[in-house]
Order: sequence, then C-alpha cells, then structure tokens
Amino acid sequence: MEQKRRNTTSPRRKKKRKGTHPVVHVIKAIGTLLLSIFLIVIITLSIFGTVLTIYVLNFADTTTTVTLEKNTQSNITRFLYDNPDYDAENDDPMDEHVLYYTMRNEYRHFLWVDLENIPQVVQDAYVYTEDERFYNHDGVDFKSTFAAFVNIFLPTGRSRGGSTITQQTVKNLTGDNATEGVSGIERKIREVFRSINVEKTYTKDDILQSYLNVVPAGTQQYDIVGVQAAANFYFGKDVSELDLAEAACLAGMNNAPAYNNPIDNIKNNNIRRKYCLDHMLAAGAISSQEYTEALNEPLELAGNFDYSSETVYDGELEEQGMTDWYLDAAIDEAEEKIAAEAGITIQEAHDKLADGGYTVYTGVDIDLQRTIEKKMQDASNFTTYDMDPEEDTLWSAFVCMDYKGNVKAICSSRKEKTMIRGLNQAVDGKRSPGSCIKPIASYAPALDQDLMTMSSFFNDRPIKNNGEDWPVNYSEYSKEEGNWSYKDMFTYQMLLKSLNTMPAQLIEKMTPAYSFNFLKSKLDISTLDDRDCNLAPVTVGAFTEGLHLDELVGAYMIFGNGGRKYDVDYVYRIEDSAGKIIYEKNDGYKQAISDSTAYIMNRMMQYVINDKEGTGRYAKLKKTDLVGKTGTSEDWCDLNFVGCTPDYVSGVWIGYEFMETIPTNDYQNIGAIWKNIFGDIADSEENKSFNDTFPMPDTVVKLNFCTRTGLIAGAGCSSQIPGYYKASNVPEYCYGGH
Ligand SMILES: [Zn+2]
Repeated sequence: MEQKRRNTTSPRRKKKRKGTHPVVHVIKAIGTLLLSIFLIVIITLSIFGTVLTIYVLNFADTTTTVTLEKNTQSNITRFLYDNPDYDAENDDPMDEHVLYYTMRNEYRHFLWVDLENIPQVVQDAYVYTEDERFYNHDGVDFKSTFAAFVNIFLPTGRSRGGSTITQQTVKNLTGDNATEGVSGIERKIREVFRSINVEKTYTKDDILQSYLNVVPAGTQQYDIVGVQAAANFYFGKDVSELDLAEAACLAGMNNAPAYNNPIDNIKNNNIRRKYCLDHMLAAGAISSQEYTEALNEPLELAGNFDYSSETVYDGELEEQGMTDWYLDAAIDEAEEKIAAEAGITIQEAHDKLADGGYTVYTGVDIDLQRTIEKKMQDASNFTTYDMDPEEDTLWSAFVCMDYKGNVKAICSSRKEKTMIRGLNQAVDGKRSPGSCIKPIASYAPALDQDLMTMSSFFNDRPIKNNGEDWPVNYSEYSKEEGNWSYKDMFTYQMLLKSLNTMPAQLIEKMTPAYSFNFLKSKLDISTLDDRDCNLAPVTVGAFTEGLHLDELVGAYMIFGNGGRKYDVDYVYRIEDSAGKIIYEKNDGYKQAISDSTAYIMNRMMQYVINDKEGTGRYAKLKKTDLVGKTGTSEDWCDLNFVGCTPDYVSGVWIGYEFMETIPTNDYQNIGAIWKNIFGDIADSEENKSFNDTFPMPDTVVKLNFCTRTGLIAGAGCSSQIPGYYKASNVPEYCYGGH
C-alpha cells in the first residue's frame, strides 16, 4: 500500500502544476476509493458467502448434538464442618460447610452442583452479565452474533464475544474454542448449529445448570471450573451460601477469569463486579438498595485458597494458609479410613485423598475450635504474672468432644500454628496422665466389681511393691517422703484428695493385668505397651510412653453417658466422588462399665470439684455441673485436668517439650487453666445439669450415709450426707447411736 501511494502522488502533483482545479482531483480520488471499498466488500462477501454456504451445508449435516450430561467426576476432596442440623436423608448442601479442600496445580478442580442448589442470585448474575436475552432466544442471539463476526474482521477488543450462554456452554463442553481467522469462523458456525440443537433438546434450566457447572473461574495458578468449585475456592462456602456481592464477583470475572479474579487482581474484579451489578440493576433483577449494598460489601475471601494439598502434601510451608489442629487430625483419620476401606497403604490413601474427589464430614464445631485456639494463645489464661513470652515455653494441649466420641475442637499449642501436619500434641503426644488415670484405671473398674462403695473405708497407707512401701502420696502441696496419714477415709474422700494409696490397694486386689486390659480393650487406650502391665503405670499413670490426650479425654466419656465407650473420631462420614458412603461412624459402643457404676463415679467426682479440699476445686463452674479429675505426674512434669460437663467431655494438659518440672508458682492451678479456657463455653452449654443428660438409673439408689461409719444412716446417726449406691450393693444400716 505504501508503495502504491507513493506512485500515485507524483502524477497528481504534476497535474496540479498544469493548473487543473484541485477539487476535481479530490472527487476523482474519492470515487476511486469508494469503488475500491465497494469491490473489496463485494469480494469479501462473495468469499464469505461461499465459505458460509459450504460450511452451513456441511455442518447442518455433520454437527453432532452436544449432550449436557451430569458430570460428577469431581477431583476436589472437601472437608466439611459439622452442622448439628445436617439432614443426611435430604442431603441438603445448605447444611454443609466447607472447611478445607484439596487442590493441585496440575488438575482441573470441579464439583458438580444441581441448579436447584444454585441460588437465584448466582443464576441471575451470570445471565444478566453474559446473556440477558437467554430466556428468549433459541440458542443464538443473532444481533450479538453479527457483532461477533464483525469483531473477527475488525477486532475492537471490546466485544463480549457475542456468545449466548448456550453457545458458551457448547464451547466449554466441546473445548472447541478457536477465535481467530478461518478456524474462528468455522468454530462459530459449528457453535451456532450445536447451540440451536441443544436448545431443541434441552430446557433452559438444563442449559443453565450445565453452563454454571462448566464455566471457567480459575486463577493464574488454579484451574477452577464451575460455580461450586469457585464458591468453595474463593469464599470457603457452598454455592448455596453465596450472596449478591459474591455472585457478582464470580459472574463479573467470567470474561477473563485469570485477569479478573479477586485473588490475582482485586481492582479488576471490583470493576467487573460493578459491571455485573450494573446489568442486574438495569434489568430490574435487583433493587437499587441491593445494588448499593453489594457494590460496597467487602469480599471476605476464604483464607484457605492456598490450603492446597499440592503444597500441604509436598511440605512447602512458607507461602500458604495454615490448617488448624482439627483439620490436621481429620486428614490423618481420613487417610486411615480410606486405606482401611480400599485395602491400601496410608501413602496410597494420602494421594487418593488429595485428588479423589471425596467429601469428608468432620465433627468440628468451628466456632468452638476458633474460640479454643484464641484462649490457648492468651498467656494470661496460664500464667500467674505477666511473664516474658520468651521465658514462657510451657506447652499445652486441649481436647473437647461430645459423649459419642465426636471430637468438637482440639488445640495443640499455646502459640499460633506454624506447621502443617506437624506434631499434633493433643492427638500424637504421649504424656503422663498422672492421677487422671485413677478414675479410669482403678476406681471405675473396682466399683464395677463391687470391690467398694462410695462410702467404703480405706486406710491411707502404702502397699508393698518389690518389698518397698509404695506409693507415696504427692498432694498438690507436698512432696514429703511417704506422706501417708494412716487414717481411714471414705472412697470419695480418697478420690477428691487424689491420694495414691487407695488406687494402689484397689489395683493390688484387681491385679495390674486386669486394669491394663480394661484400659486397653474397654477404653481404647492405644499407647500402652507390655511394660505398662504393672503397678506404677496403672496406679499413678507412670506409663512407659504416656497417653494421647484425646484418648484420655475419650476414656472419661463413660462418666457422663452411662458407661458407654464410643470410638473417638474427627471424621464421621466419607463419601467418594460418586457420593457413595465409604465410611460412616456408627452408633456402636462398648459398655465399659455399668450405667450404675458410671453414675456413682460421676457423683463421686463431683466432690473433686465441689469439696473445699477437692483437687479440682479451681475448675468449679458458675452455672453448669462439672465432674472431673486433676492429674499430676511424678516430679510435676505433666499436669492434666479432665472435666465432664453435661454436654461435653474436655481436658487440658500442660508440660514442657522435654521432661522438666513445671514451676507451679509461675502458673495457675491446672483446674483454673481448664476453666479459663473452657469455663465460659461450659457455662453456655444447652444442658446445665447431669439430671438432663444422665439421669439416675433405676439400678442406683440415693441414701444418706453416716459420716462416722460410711454405713446407711440410721435414726441415731447425727451426721449424714447423701450417697449413691448400686441397688444390688447397698451397705448395711448404721446402728451406732451417735
Ligand atoms: Zn452412724
């Protein structure tokens, strides 16, 4: 063209010099130009027409119908929060909450969702942004299609693509997405015919459902497909929970997700969100008030979009969101369940979990979990003075579960979590339970066998262990040698003072093996080894390795639920990608002790809290029943408190990384620490009294006993207090005349 123009300028100048009127030349030039344009247009249209005719004839015959199959082959594994109102039969995803999902760079992340579970606001946001005539056209919007054709020849960079939702669905389903030149034209024509066919075969709802499931919504790093995966990823929500602002965020980015998504470019996303809202407002789909609110609503992006298994599993820890202690435990447990179900190794299950599209239902109470984490990080809940944090290296862990063994919250550190799937102290730590072992290893099994009642007399004196007097009593105040009083005391008094002598006498009667097996087989304590089948471990908790805190707390559930030992679980159901249940926590339990034993133990442990000498008195609550036990290990290296309230069983442990004596002056009483963490929560429980959750069984009788003899009080006994007895094992009447 350049060359041509240069050639024509020269003669024109010559003519000008010969004196011809310039206007004539201009008119001639314009004429030539118009003629050229006319010819170009004619030629182009002829070529285009011919091409079109050939393709139309060709495609009308050969275009296959695109089918809108429901694709359930998700590869995202989702961990869901527990929701007490979850209705498994109706399987309403409104009740599910996404806690975590797995993602890997190399995969497309997709989760099918039915249209009925996609809120109207999400449907509208896409329709009004992309194709406002969707419900009126027959698959192709010829007005915008023409604009799109023009755009192929004269790219303006401003086109919306001219595609209807139907056409985009076809494009996304077929992967047929050439945009330029002849192949662009070919694609457009195929798409038109396929779209018209789709409209003949399917309803608008079918098409929109398919569209919303295949719409690209990824970032520069992650390939996210469909509104459900997008809702999970960007907002940590089920799509059913999205509001207008969030719907507009997703629908708005649709023209170029990689550049307009809120993670890579929030500014672009805000512009596109407004674009979507503008269209919805103009169409009357939302009110101006809704418009303003949605426009100004700050987006709460999920903190966990980089919780990806891709990085989690590869152990790169620096640039990603943090999991919580609960989730770490739930991932471990899910791997175990999947391995068991499929008969594969944990490592294989680990890979399968990451991209197998499972839905994992966890028992976490997410509000409780967050609250516990906060309280654990508040140093004032532990220390007696404002200690320098550098100095304060004491570790702690906390576990809370319901009476069916569903763990509701755990925390394994007093500091912010910095490791993903590192040591989970509450689950993996093995520490001495100290005297917390007594109710489960000696008192409960002995009471169950009628070796005592609540008001039996025992003498505070040692037994012989390898020829030595044993064990010493270590009260909370004194480590004096022996420390035996040689006084007769009632069972419940021995328990509330946490004396070591009575459990030793009980274990001697039952044999260490009986207690050992009881802990192992009835209460599921998994960390015992053969060396623990001995006096010291089962009497005072001096185990070779120690107990996991979640198992210790789990063992105490029997004191609040009638003696039933359920498995302790973080995960209660796992479904595979097709929705088939591959694991479900059943309602099965072991009757570890009789309900009457459980009830009497519960009443006896009230004294630990309520008596002025009770070792657990610092844990006493304002409004809610509490029964429990403190646990101090030898040399004060480990302190524990396990408490049962009507709705929960929970426990706290403190100790140093390496076995060191805890400077008890620097820290609050372990009962107080438990209360600082859990007291408010316990006092807000639904049930305040064990009468509501664990009423007295028929097999138990409540009778006053004589505080001098421990026998059932007679008319002549001046001092008497209520006692609880098995109906089958009531003490005699006291005729003491005192
Ligand atoms: Zn008496």
